[in-house]
Amino acid sequence: MSFDSNVKIGVLGGGQLGRMMIQSAIDFNLDVHVLDPDPNAPCKDISTSFTNGALTDYDTVMAFGADKELLTIEIENVNTEALKALETQGKKVFPQPHIIELIQNKLHQKQFYAANNIPTAPFHEVANAEEVEAKKDLLPFVNKLATGGYDGRGVQVIKSEEALSKAFDAHGFVEELVDFEKELAVIVARNESGEMKTFPTVEMVFHPEHNLVEYLFSPADINSNIENEAQELAKTVIEKLDMTGLLAIEMFLTKEGKLLVNEIAPRTHNSGHQTIEGNVTSQFEQHLRAILNWPLGDTATLWPSAMVNLLGEDGFTGNARYEGMAEVLAKAGVHVHLYGKKLTKPFRKMGHITVSDQDMTELREKVNFVKTTLKVKA
Ligand code: ADP
Repeated sequence: MSFDSNVKIGVLGGGQLGRMMIQSAIDFNLDVHVLDPDPNAPCKDISTSFTNGALTDYDTVMAFGADKELLTIEIENVNTEALKALETQGKKVFPQPHIIELIQNKLHQKQFYAANNIPTAPFHEVANAEEVEAKKDLLPFVNKLATGGYDGRGVQVIKSEEALSKAFDAHGFVEELVDFEKELAVIVARNESGEMKTFPTVEMVFHPEHNLVEYLFSPADINSNIENEAQELAKTVIEKLDMTGLLAIEMFLTKEGKLLVNEIAPRTHNSGHQTIEGNVTSQFEQHLRAILNWPLGDTATLWPSAMVNLLGEDGFTGNARYEGMAEVLAKAGVHVHLYGKKLTKPFRKMGHITVSDQDMTELREKVNFVKTTLKVKA
């Protein structure tokens, strides 16, 4: 595609990822039309047009796509049959619908890694809780749902026979429990011409109870061999998928120094939010460049940065209030992103904060300050 700002882009999903994509699209005068089931979705007031409707409904997606030239997603849970039909009509759909479909199913993801020699933790398919129990000789392991799980809700760590009662009574798999040193993520972009670029590897730190990324450091504290390996692995995955768009690859770095792919997401990702302030090109701009087949942007790191998810405080539901905001805004190198959600709920992603500092110790101190000072209450 040549540089054309008149292309009519449709995005399935109007949450924070779509909102930050629109913020980037404005720099290129691009029109972005959004479909979302929530009438008050974060994109509602900033998209060129906003359609309220179900992303999983065939007719709704077909009607939304009818007058668009290029369709993309900010969430995987969409009707891929409709996207395939729109693709057949000659519309550009990136990531390609068959790839979204593959990634919707965690078991299919694992089977794809195995078939393509992509390193991943060993796994066994299970149909129900009884079959999980039958694998008790393999304990400890992680039981994962094939479909329907997100943000840690489809993942159950089972360490002992007593804990087998926590097994999901549904189709999925059990996977070896990885004794990892770190959790890493690499975002890779690939345009239609096949040009590829990776962002530097980042390091994720998870909330111990809620399985959400609690904060993240960029670049990751790893040696250059692991960094190169992680970049190459990300490129291998997107090439084997033959995917156009942006792909986030979450990996485990084992104590033995091996990289294992955990899971992938074919879209902008929570592990790339700090690229807005920390890198020359943000993941949101890169996503647009990739799907429009424009040259990909420079991914170099400007300065070390950390990203803190701003989650609704436990015990508060109602109109959001941001306690400690003035103190946080007064700090140098702190950048606040609020997602435009009126209502807070326990652990709802309400925004994120990017913290930058050339000095890693200072950076960690600032992260702690933000985490302990800023609270979302009702
Ligand atoms: P989700 O799609 O819900 O984010 P993940 O598969 O990424 O689920 O798992 C969530 C978290 O659970 C991971 O980031 C990691 O901390 C932990 N986890 C998942 N699989 C394993 C494993 N095989 N070994 C150890 N920890 C794991």
